[in-house]
Amino acid sequence: MVKINIELCKDCRYCVKFCPKQILKTGTVRNSRGHFYPAMTDADKCITCAICATMCPEGAIEVMKGDEAV
Ligand code: SF4
Ligand code: SF4
Repeated sequence: MVKINIELCKDCRYCVKFCPKQILKTGTVRNSRGHFYPAMTDADKCITCAICATMCPEGAIEVMKGDEAV
């Protein structure tokens, strides 16, 4: 499971670009700072590689495998 703290997102789109499964897309809703934040298109395809979390410069993404953070 991927948790996104949408208020921290600054719409850099690194997570969208580097997800190997291409399942993160820039959404159409802005956060309170005016930035579009990503949305997951197909959670079943997530391999919990945590590349999205590693690439996010804002620390806005947390990847969980069961109850544990990856
Ligand atoms: S954990 Fe990996 S597969 Fe899942 S959304 Fe992030 S980058 Fe994509
Ligand atoms: S990498 Fe982080 S800041 Fe950049 S678009 Fe994704 S969630 Fe937002």
